[in-house]
Formats: sequence, C-alpha cells, structure tokens
Amino acid sequence: MRFSRMHLPTLKEVPAEAEVISHRLMLRAGMIRRLAAGIYSYLPLGLLALRNVEEIIRQEMNRAGAQEVLLPAVQPAELWQESGRWDFYGKELLRIKDRHQRDYCFGPTHEEVITDLIRHEVRSYRQLPLNLYQIQTKFRDEIRPRFGLMRGREFIMKDAYSFDVDDAAAGLSYQSMREAYSRIFSRCGLNFRAVEADSGAIGGNFSHEFVVLAESGEDAIASCTDCDYAANIEKAESRFVDSATPSPEPTAAAPVEVATPDCESIKEVADFFGVAPEATIKSMIFESDLGFCMVVVPGDCEVNEIKVTAALGAEWLEIPPPARIADELGLPVGYLGPLNLSIPLLVDRQVPQMGEIICGANRAGFHLQGVLWGRDFKSQQMADLVLVRAGDLCPRCGSLLQIDRGIEVGHIFKLGTKYSEKLKATFLDQEGQEKNLVMGCYGIGVGRTVAAAIEQNYDDNGICFPYAIAPFKVALLNLDLKSEEVTAYCETLYKELQSRGISVIYDDRNERPGVKFKDADLIGVPLRLTLGRKGYKRGILEVKSRNSSVNEELPLDDRAPLWRLLDELAANDSRIPSQ
Ligand code: ATP
Ligand code: MG
Repeated sequence: MRFSRMHLPTLKEVPAEAEVISHRLMLRAGMIRRLAAGIYSYLPLGLLALRNVEEIIRQEMNRAGAQEVLLPAVQPAELWQESGRWDFYGKELLRIKDRHQRDYCFGPTHEEVITDLIRHEVRSYRQLPLNLYQIQTKFRDEIRPRFGLMRGREFIMKDAYSFDVDDAAAGLSYQSMREAYSRIFSRCGLNFRAVEADSGAIGGNFSHEFVVLAESGEDAIASCTDCDYAANIEKAESRFVDSATPSPEPTAAAPVEVATPDCESIKEVADFFGVAPEATIKSMIFESDLGFCMVVVPGDCEVNEIKVTAALGAEWLEIPPPARIADELGLPVGYLGPLNLSIPLLVDRQVPQMGEIICGANRAGFHLQGVLWGRDFKSQQMADLVLVRAGDLCPRCGSLLQIDRGIEVGHIFKLGTKYSEKLKATFLDQEGQEKNLVMGCYGIGVGRTVAAAIEQNYDDNGICFPYAIAPFKVALLNLDLKSEEVTAYCETLYKELQSRGISVIYDDRNERPGVKFKDADLIGVPLRLTLGRKGYKRGILEVKSRNSSVNEELPLDDRAPLWRLLDELAANDSRIPSQ
C-alpha cells in the first residue's frame, strides 16, 4: 500500500476521551473512530489488524475440526423465551420490534440460535461430534462501555458451539478448544494465562478464561508462584491453615460497648481503637433470592460475592441500599455486627481464629470491643468467603499466590445440557434412545484481542505490533522523492516485497523524514527500511526493527540478507507454526 493513497489519518494529539493506552493509540494511529458510546468504525489500518487476528482464529479453529458458519445477528424473542433468557438477560439485551410489533433482539451471543439450528438438523449420533463457529458482530448494551474496543457495545466475536453424545465426548471437544485457544493467543504474540473461571450455576471445573496480562486489565487473576494453578480472582481459592495457637484469655467477661462517632469504615474503626484492621471484622448485609443475610469476614479481607452466592446456594446476590436495611431490618450500615441477629449469619472460616475482635454494635455510633467467636456469636454456616490476596497459599501446592491484572480475551465453557434440555435438542444414540445433546461454547473477542495486543506492546512512540498481527510487516521509507535513483530503487523494492507476499506500506508522501519515522513508529510496523540520497550514494539500505533488536545497513545490490531477515522475523513471532 502506498501511504500517499491510504486513508491513514494519524493524530499527533492524544485524544482526551481515551483512558487506556490501546484506546489512545488506536485513535492516534487512525485505526478506529467512535460513532457513539461503545460503537466504533474500523478504518483500513484497524481492519487489517482485525483481519489478521481473524485469520489466525480461522486457521486454528479449522485445524481443530470446527466449521465456519454465519448465523443471523437479529434473533426472534420466542427462542429467548424458550431458553428462559428473555427475562433473565436483563438490560444488556438490545430488544427491538419489527413493523408487526414482534419482538426481536440483536444477538449478544448465539446459544439459542445454534441450538435451534441443530435441533432441526441433527438426528443421530452418527452426525456427532459437531463444532460450528462464526465470526460476527454482537451487541451488548454494556452499562459502562469504555476503553475503545476493549468494552464496546457493538463488537466482533468469534463464537463456537460444540455438540456431543455425552460428557466424556464433550470433554474432548472442550480440551481441543482449550488447545486451539492456546495456539491462537500464542500466535498472536500475546503473554496470556489460561485460568480457571467461575462457571456460575452450572458448576464443575469446566470454564477457563484466557487472560492477557496487562496492568490496565479489568480482571484480576491469582496464580501460584510454583505450580500451574491459576484462577480468576472470583474463583480463586487459597489453602486454609487451621492455626493451633490458643487464643489469649478474654480481657473481660462480655463485650464492651464503646461510642465511636463517625467511625463507619474499617479504617476509621481500627484507627479509633488504635488496632490493625485484622483485629476488626467486616459485617455486610446481602440480599438474595433466599432473603437477607449477614456475611462476616476479617476486617482486612474483601468479601467474594461469588463464594457467598455459592455458600448460600442462591441464584442471585446483591447489596441492598442502606435505607432498605434500616427500614426492613432496623440495622444501621456502618455499625453492623453479628450479635443478636434475626437473619441468617454466614461467617468466613478465618473468623474463629481471630481471638478478641471489634465489630459494630448494631446501634448507630457504637462498636463492641472484646467480642469472642463462640461465646458472643455463632453461625451454623462457615465457609471460605473472601477474595484471595497476594501471599495467600496455593490451594494445590501450598506455595505463595501472586495477583496479576489482565484482560479476558477468550472464554471456554462446558454447557452440558442446559440449552438442549430447554430447547429440546435431542439425538438418537446407538441404542436408538433419545438423548439431549451435550454442548460447549467458546468465545473470543476479536477487537478486544487487538486492543490487548497493543496494551502489551507499545512504547513512547506508539504501537509495537507483534509480527503476526501487524497490519503491515514492513514500512519502506523514501526520504528523497526528488531523487530519481532513490525513487526508482524504492519502487522496485516495493514491488518485490509485494510479490513475495509481504504486506508493506511504502511511504511515498511528500513529507519530512521526521514525519515518516514518527508515523511508521506510531502504527507499529515491525520492520522499517529507509533509503535517502546519502544511503544511495553509500550503497546501503537502513534496516531497523521496531523493537530495536535489528539495526543494520544492508547492501543495496544484494537482497538475500533482507529476505533472510524477514523470514527470521516471521518465524520468531509466530511461535506455533500454522499447518
Ligand atoms: P466480560 O466479563 O469481559 O464482560 P463476558 O464473560 O461477558 O466478558 P463472554 O460472554 O464469555 O464474555 O464473551 C466471549 C468474549 O467476548 C470475551 O472473552 C471477550 O473477549 C469478548 N467480549 C465480551 N464482551 C465484550 C465487550 N463488551 N466488548 C468487547 N469484547 C467483549
Ligand atoms: Mg460481559
């Protein structure tokens, strides 16, 4: 592509609207433009990067035996009513009406559509296993669209759905997708982890997220510093050490009520009493489909709502507003405690080891000091209810856990018969018996993957694309358009690069060298070839890689070293070769 002909509107200024680096750089590099909140146009450079990721995905999905389809984006409400998700999915579902006032939605995901398709197509075990995928635009009316392509409302997803005869076969499909995903993200040049993820109401260890490590990520993951345990923080567990140290003698026979005006947070309470947060407990009221309950954890810990939901066996969980807690339970938020409660109490497993603690007195402006588990309060239900922290012990091997931030780029999930039961998608097994299809679903955010690659690969001058997904592999900079020899040489080299199938951007613009260098850096081209009048006289082509690992002068009259260099770059970057 000739730079002079390309619609590549790079920006010098940092756009004010962008909070994270990938969003800033994608706007500055002329890759995307915003139309409305969470809705973006892809300009030529952005689309090239997107297509490169799609191509890697296609190759690896096909290699794993999946077949590409394209399903409708607009879906009838009836299907969603059949699965029960029309009501359940909530406000993220963009609902629309046609001219006959019939309800539709713009698909946020395609379990219903694919299950409907398959229930009409598959009759016999002989047609299984089957794995169908598509790369398509989804719409989710996210409450907080942000960070450009990272959390859009309209976005491109690869979604795949597998159908098997039984759990064992579905396990193989799942494993094959897990391996395909590892190859996809390795080939994209990403530093990622496959982590255990919460599988919600379905249960079991059958959900993994693929998380690209990046400080700006919205997800936190816990991983072991020794073994290969890694889990999303929502799911992560830690090894519990039942400490045998006996608690010291109680300082008083009963808790003492102390006036603590304006001490509502753990920090304020700990400061007031001159103790560490570990000497206090955090008491919170939750509401679920089972009613109100109080959850109590050590003052320095955070409640993990997913663990609480699981411990309760609830469908949903939320924190009610303080006004409701006051009106319906007569309890003052900020001064809550587990004594004399009329609602169920859930206690974190660490609390009994804490000795004398400080907690709210369930009376506004007062706390209790010298409270003892067992003597002053008790609970039928004790469980692990907290988020793990760096330094907690690995549940598998007991080594230390570390916490990293990351971006979820893919999610694989064993669905079981959740949708096939609801939509009656069955097949006849070998004995001629009717059975429910066993399903799996597998998603990748295509745009989010491009954004994540940028979050991991940039410097002060702009994007440093991994070779495999770089829109252009080579930038050829002509610094002297007026020189006929230089221009003739560049034109020839440009054509040769093209005929070798190397995607190249030829900067033939009438611009200063500085502008050309800046733009080549900004748009993240892995290899830069530069020729000007001086170089031509000396018979050398300047060759520099974006990450500075290559910085050479190659002879103008011998192409072999250049082709070798390009082969090496391509080979190093796509760590897993495609077949
Ligand atoms: P998140 O927790 O980030 O909202 P999710 O669990 O809702 O993700 P899935 O339903 O598993 O996501 O979708 C599959 C993939 O689609 C995700 O792994 C992610 O890469 C991508 N994705 C999901 N929501 C968005 C979005 N709003 N913008 C861009 N990509 C998205
Ligand atoms: Mg989501």
